[in-house]
Amino acid sequence: KTAGLDVESLKQDGNPPSMALSGKAGSRLQVVDENQNFSTNLSQYLRKWDLLDKGFAYDVVAVFGSQSTGKSTLLNRLFGTTFDVMDETKRQQTTKGIWMCPSNYSSTLVMDVEGTDGRERGEDQDFERKSALFSLASTEVLLINLWEHQIGLYQGANMGLLKTVFEVNLSLFGGSAEQHAEGLSSSHEKTMLLFVIRDHVGSTPLTNLTTTLTQDMEKIWASLSKPDHLASAKLSDYFDLSFAALPHKILLPEKFEEAVVDLRKRFTDRDRDDFVFKPVYHKRIPADGVPFYMEGIWQKVLTNKDLDLPTQQELLAQFRCDEIAASVLEAFQDASKGVRRPIESGSVLDGLGGMMNDWRTTALAKFDKDASRYHQGVYSRKRLDLLKAIDTALSPMFMGQLKNVHKRCVATFRTDLLNGLKGEGYDFGAVVKQIGQGVEKDFINNAEEIQLKDTDWQFDDELALLRDDLKLIADQCRVDETKKMVNSIERSLRKQLAEPVEIGLAKPNADMWDSLLRIFRTMLEKSEEVYLSKAKSFNCTEEENTASLSNLQRRAWHHFRAKIGEQLSDPAILAKLKNSFEDMFRYDAAGVPRVWSPGDDIDTVFRHAKDQTLALIPLYAKIEPKDPSNAFTLPSDASVDASLDPDADFDFPSTLVIFSETKKLDLENRFKRDADAYYVEAKRSVVSSVAQ
Ligand code: GDP
Ligand code: MG
Repeated sequence: KTAGLDVESLKQDGNPPSMALSGKAGSRLQVVDENQNFSTNLSQYLRKWDLLDKGFAYDVVAVFGSQSTGKSTLLNRLFGTTFDVMDETKRQQTTKGIWMCPSNYSSTLVMDVEGTDGRERGEDQDFERKSALFSLASTEVLLINLWEHQIGLYQGANMGLLKTVFEVNLSLFGGSAEQHAEGLSSSHEKTMLLFVIRDHVGSTPLTNLTTTLTQDMEKIWASLSKPDHLASAKLSDYFDLSFAALPHKILLPEKFEEAVVDLRKRFTDRDRDDFVFKPVYHKRIPADGVPFYMEGIWQKVLTNKDLDLPTQQELLAQFRCDEIAASVLEAFQDASKGVRRPIESGSVLDGLGGMMNDWRTTALAKFDKDASRYHQGVYSRKRLDLLKAIDTALSPMFMGQLKNVHKRCVATFRTDLLNGLKGEGYDFGAVVKQIGQGVEKDFINNAEEIQLKDTDWQFDDELALLRDDLKLIADQCRVDETKKMVNSIERSLRKQLAEPVEIGLAKPNADMWDSLLRIFRTMLEKSEEVYLSKAKSFNCTEEENTASLSNLQRRAWHHFRAKIGEQLSDPAILAKLKNSFEDMFRYDAAGVPRVWSPGDDIDTVFRHAKDQTLALIPLYAKIEPKDPSNAFTLPSDASVDASLDPDADFDFPSTLVIFSETKKLDLENRFKRDADAYYVEAKRSVVSSVAQ
């Protein structure tokens, strides 16, 4: 034995002074203090421990395991070190940090990690991870200390921490992609993981326990997220697993001591097969470089974000996710800005939905690729934010395109409708329906194309608006078309009426009005039938039909009456009267022209012809059938569509009167003058014939 240090007595006396500089064994160094500062005294201590000039002839060992699993006790027994041991009876406070002590039995640096109780405090987890990573990265042999009953219990045995530490160790110290590509992957150091199973009862054979532990390690290794270039790395590329078991220290102190002494030999006896400090584990750092090297590792550990506390991980995730989202959004804006202007200026862009979907998926995929490695909660939240930002940017395009499609649909409907209503014989209702359905389908197709999935984008309102617009256009069109139809019916009625009126009025007799009114009525009824049969396809309402028909009646009457007026204008009626008079006065009953002789009774013939003719004036003066059943009448104030009604003040009875009383007198007088002229002429002809 190199030093006669009585650890048990030290325990009873409390902890040894941490900076006891007297003698090799009694001194420890807090290589990393509670404020996570790396000691500046390591070189000095290495010199004191006679290790500084050892070159490569030294080894490093450290320990990993849950709190109070007897780690420090083990190290002290195994290496004769003086690490603090928790005394439960005194509940003394140990000093947090990474501690270093030389082994009493060989040129070995032993490191112990001292945390504090209250592991749930984030601060402690942070230190636990950092110190574990430091231990793993800087030692040749890492003792993994655990109770037998912890085996197979993932959380209990601190396996979660081990996973994190492995993961970070791999990314920090696993070798760069370049080294890997150059086939230098074997250049990284290997580390031995020596599992020390504590309080081994012996009922479960050691081989079973080691199998479980080996499987656990392989499982952990498989579940690591590895850097791409190390994806295929195997556990055995980086670690060798070894095992040792110790009996219960309190219950079986002698057995425990024996086992410890035996285990110690694996650290000191180079001839043993299971000697742990194999050259392959050595970091190949000369002893005097160790302080600098270890400090470098510690700095790397300190600055490594992946090791940080959850809150720090979240902060990092927030920062990085924001950065990634910003760059993704920028690329998205660049890709999509080209369509903004055309949409604003009213164009309908074909395939806009496909494009929007592409930009969106591309952006999300980029985000997912880079951001999903960060804190999951933050990542998911930021992803939602990003999606919202993207959809907010896309939504005006959706609305704009929808508006433009709407406009286009309305225009198409209008022109298609006008084209569809060209020519004769179309069914208005059918044409409107067919074109309307086509346009609506076009609208829906376009709207659905740009309606991205997982959005709340709707176009029901716009579709309803479109339907309203189409209906408005169709209605306007229907009114126009109905008007046109009524006009054309009216025109042909007017033509048909002309001749019968001329003929009827040319042969005045007592039931002249009866037959004219009958003809008028028949023609009007025919026109009404034509209207009704055509109106069916216009989907006209009952009201509209009533209005149109009453309008038609008034127009028809108007034309009828106008034709009569024309046929009975002053010159026309005077000519008629003259003809009638002449027929009777200048021709005899057989239709032979009279040649008056002195004995002829000119006066009687004259009076007869004149009276007969004068009797025609009251006949022509009023449209009045002999048989009242032939009378035609219209409601005077028929409430018809004002747009269809050019002569708003319409008083039917007044239209029946053709000559007023004064007009009749006037006509009588003018006729009498003509008649008198004939009389005089007849008289003269007799005188002249006598004179010859
Ligand atoms: P550390 O926190 O892992 O360093 O644990 P310590 O070495 O400070 O010991 C914690 C407690 O476990 C102390 O009360 C020790 O007496 C006790 N202890 C040490 N070794 C053993 C052991 O082998 N078996 C049992 N059951 N207890 C032990
Ligand atoms: Mg301890």
